[in-house]
Amino acid sequence: MTDYVFAPPAISSVAVEGEQARFPVRRIFCVGRNYAAHVREMGKDPDREPPFFFTKPADAVVDSGAVVPYPPETSNFHYEIELVVAIDREGFDLAPADALNYVFGYGVGIDLTRRDLQFEARDKGRPWDWGKAFDLSAPIAPLRRVSAVSHLSAGRIWLAVNESLKQDADLKELVWSVPEIISILSRSMVLRPGDLIMTGTPAGVGAIVANDKVTGGIDGLGKIEITIGSARAAS
Ligand code: MN
Repeated sequence: MTDYVFAPPAISSVAVEGEQARFPVRRIFCVGRNYAAHVREMGKDPDREPPFFFTKPADAVVDSGAVVPYPPETSNFHYEIELVVAIDREGFDLAPADALNYVFGYGVGIDLTRRDLQFEARDKGRPWDWGKAFDLSAPIAPLRRVSAVSHLSAGRIWLAVNESLKQDADLKELVWSVPEIISILSRSMVLRPGDLIMTGTPAGVGAIVANDKVTGGIDGLGKIEITIGSARAAS
């Protein structure tokens, strides 16, 4: 047994629908610009350029129902509703036709974004981390096993702020499908159990502020709900 100089951090995890046991999170990969209408609203050209990825730390996950404090150093804090894919097998250089065999299940997630910091980084050619990879930036609703929901390639995906509908699209509009995303990602990394993939957001992103209630869902999969809290006080 390895000794540590202090107690190691707890393993981050996501709930699994209807089960006591939770899904342990290893890494969170996110796909950029994967719905054409969202690519356009970000000021880019939605031709089918290869997908690119960014990451969030595993401990950015937070359960549905949480209060997420308004994060520091932003005045343009955005929601992005996304389909989340959960991986439970090790795989490398997978063919698209084989990729779905590595999926544990699916969930509804929100890629919370400090848009002002993301755009500043983007425009200066710097990493996106400060815009995307901050504390509590990955709310994810309970995962549902493939055996419960089968594989999702279509279905309404939506998000509302204080009951006002902001994002409303269909998984059919994904530029790169789930099998393609898994296949392409697995050429760059050995995928491992516990990896999550946030598959990109449709059009309609926008700002949220303290006390906003953010709800969203994917037909046939489930719903997510978070409340934005006040900024965290110094400690
Ligand atoms: Mn996103």
